[in-house]
Amino acid sequence: MAEKKKNIIVLGGSFAGLSAAHYFLKHVSPSLPDRLDYHLCIVNPSKDFMFRIAAPRAISCPDLMPTSKFFFPIADAFKQYDSQLYTIIQGKATALDTAARAVTIQVGDSTVSNQQIPYHALVIATGSRTTSALFSIDSGRQEVEAALKDIRQRLQQAKTILIAGGGPTGVETAGEIGESLNGKACSFSPRLKNPKVQITLLSGSNKILPGLRSSIADQAESYLGKVGVEVIHNKRAVSSKDNGDGTTTVALDNGEIIRSDIYIEAVGVKPNTEWLEGSLLNETGHVKTNKASLRVDDAGPRVYALGDVASYTRGGVMDMYDAVPVALCNMKKDLIAVGSASQSVAESTDRVYTPNLAENQLVPIGRSRGVGAFKGWWLSSFIVWFFKGRDYLIGTVAVEMYSGSKWGKAS
Ligand SMILES: Cc1cc2nc3c(=O)[nH]c(=O)nc-3n(C[C@H](O)[C@H](O)[C@H](O)COP(=O)(O)OP(=O)(O)OC[C@H]3O[C@@H](n4cnc5c(N)ncnc54)[C@H](O)[C@@H]3O)c2cc1C
Repeated sequence: MAEKKKNIIVLGGSFAGLSAAHYFLKHVSPSLPDRLDYHLCIVNPSKDFMFRIAAPRAISCPDLMPTSKFFFPIADAFKQYDSQLYTIIQGKATALDTAARAVTIQVGDSTVSNQQIPYHALVIATGSRTTSALFSIDSGRQEVEAALKDIRQRLQQAKTILIAGGGPTGVETAGEIGESLNGKACSFSPRLKNPKVQITLLSGSNKILPGLRSSIADQAESYLGKVGVEVIHNKRAVSSKDNGDGTTTVALDNGEIIRSDIYIEAVGVKPNTEWLEGSLLNETGHVKTNKASLRVDDAGPRVYALGDVASYTRGGVMDMYDAVPVALCNMKKDLIAVGSASQSVAESTDRVYTPNLAENQLVPIGRSRGVGAFKGWWLSSFIVWFFKGRDYLIGTVAVEMYSGSKWGKAS
């Protein structure tokens, strides 16, 4: 990394961070006067990007979804750019000093001392993590691979499986495991009779898939029934205990206790923001982000937040796709304005983010069915299978986003 250059630091090397970095190198950097004065630093704890959308299938179908399909080495995606323009740091932000305009990075493991790196502009894209190690990556792909290996072995013997969480991750996971272990009922049969393995999904509410209307949620529940998954509503898991013999005891909020051979928590995500001061966070722990400009106004000039870590979004890739050009165009404007004597640049209008609040979700259930809606339109099971269920978007979203081809044109 270059000492005397103006560092543009991107924290997080996943959906939002990689997109911001590609967009910067393709469309912001070339239009800056003296572009070689700027240096992009991408900071991420692991060498690999995990396309976690594919995780529900990877749990029970290693043949269809081997890990080689959904881990991508971050460094390879940037070989297309001039190496003088960027550095990739394998590390983790541990503190942000907004007065000194510097980020503290813990490089490698904890035995190596921290580095303080000054920034000229900063993109916070540290995302969120799941409770289960099956669904998100921290320091390396080995952790996820170990968790997958363990569960795949245990699935072979399991007679009872409990999954907590009626959102898309829980529903997709239940559908994939159901079809792998139980097979599926024929189209005319309302549900699979006498499934080999008893699979239970706790929705935690009065319906599954809170992001979709009730009729679609009911359709999903009936598809789950066809692969031997029973859905239980209005009960939540409140604690769990590993019994040491491979089984887990789970306490529910109504006092009920369930002992299960396998327990999978698919119960929402937590923002990765512990390293930030509380004054920069909202009540849910997300980075307080200006919903129009995507700047973090309380952090001083030229600081932006993108993706699941930020308060402007309900999460998901589509919101992030809409947000990246806005944040990066505003960054371009800010970078040009700070080096320009002309007031007109600083006073030119910002790009404005407009949230897309339509019903948008595709949820495969097993290998040939699915439910969903796009821009508020109901989608048939075939369409959901065609666009997502075939490969969980590896051939489309994963490839275009990782390689940066998604950002080939300035948007
Ligand atoms: C199982 C599953 C299935 C999903 N399916 C879909 C789907 O079908 N469609 C959809 O739109 N969305 C889906 N999502 C949501 C989608 O994955 C998220 O919206 C997306 O991952 C958000 O990207 P992000 O870059 O903001 O954050 P993340 O993907 O969470 O990435 C954050 C990155 O920052 C790194 N990081 C964390 N802390 C630090 C730090 N202190 N310093 C530096 N780096 C740090 C992390 O290691 C990670 O690499 C799914 C999520 C899960 C868990």
